[in-house]
Amino acid sequence: MKAIAVKPMQKNSLQLIDLPRPEINDNEVLLKVLYVGVDGTDREINEGIYGTAPEGSDYLVIGHECLALVEEVGSNVQNFKKGDLVVPTVRRPCPENCFNCRNFESDMCLTGNYLEHGIYKLNGFASEFAVSDADYLVKVPKELRDVAVLLEPLSIAEKAVYQSYKIQERMIWDPKKAVVLGIGPLGLLIAFLLRLKGLDTYVIGRDPSDSLRVTIAKEVGAIYVNTRETPLSTIGKFDMVFEATGSVSLALEAIDMLNHNAVFCLLGIYREVKECGNFGNVLTELVLRNRVIFGSVNANKRHFEMGLEHIFEIEDRWNNVLNRLITRELKPEQFAEALKKYPEDIKTVIRFQSSP
Ligand code: BGC
Ligand code: ZN
Repeated sequence: MKAIAVKPMQKNSLQLIDLPRPEINDNEVLLKVLYVGVDGTDREINEGIYGTAPEGSDYLVIGHECLALVEEVGSNVQNFKKGDLVVPTVRRPCPENCFNCRNFESDMCLTGNYLEHGIYKLNGFASEFAVSDADYLVKVPKELRDVAVLLEPLSIAEKAVYQSYKIQERMIWDPKKAVVLGIGPLGLLIAFLLRLKGLDTYVIGRDPSDSLRVTIAKEVGAIYVNTRETPLSTIGKFDMVFEATGSVSLALEAIDMLNHNAVFCLLGIYREVKECGNFGNVLTELVLRNRVIFGSVNANKRHFEMGLEHIFEIEDRWNNVLNRLITRELKPEQFAEALKKYPEDIKTVIRFQSSP
């Protein structure tokens, strides 16, 4: 079968390889992959700065955003049958099976030795057939087959928004204004969730105001601010901030946009080395304004399930908007093209079956 794989830590090693169809054990499910979405993590893996092959293998099949049909189930698997539409979660428990992993919160793993499909020590889903443990599959209603490949990035948005609200249960709180830094798929998905909650939502980017991403942000009622034209310091204070660009400068600047009692969620990988002028002042302001800054990575099955409910609400409220996020659908042979970034592209997906 066709699979898209890298030699981890080697720059531009992405290739289409031929692998035998995988075997499943009693607790696993064989997936017939329909779509795999591409994101920044996949690009970083191909740049050779991230990604680890399964033990004993010298390649890693990529792909962690997946929509698939169940092809075959192991003898212990009760809840799934051939033909079910499913989305697998990404992370699997650490070998130590720590307290959080044991309790199905491997997104909060305590040892850091978790495994991740398509990223860290487990093959991903960018192949005609793939394998997942049945406990980590989310069943998807058939009517969502055109958009459910977005459920994994949506789960990241769900966790960020859910945990922000959860943290803020530390007091009485009535948030009015939220800002999302970044207008990629994750930024837009977070903006959709914030708009569903009725918040005044700002989205920050560098796109011209007629780009598809800006058009979509405006259609869901968000206010777009182009940082090329408007300094962030002029747009006021916010009760919630979500940082989804990975820019250290922007993240530092955004701290000043936090209202009293506000919460700031960081979602990027901050590779740029940058000095922070007066860190003492940043810390003092955190104290004097009761601010919280927290990081959020990965998502567990509950966040995927929250996402499923919101997909229905999003589609109801803004007719077909999720579908418009999928701007390119390519074949496995076009793997190199799939990783390229174009200004008008939002989400690229690779289609593995010609007739889903
Ligand atoms: C994935 C997460 C994963 C993270 C770090 C992201 O692209 O969506 O599930 O935990 O990369 O590996
Ligand atoms: Zn763990």
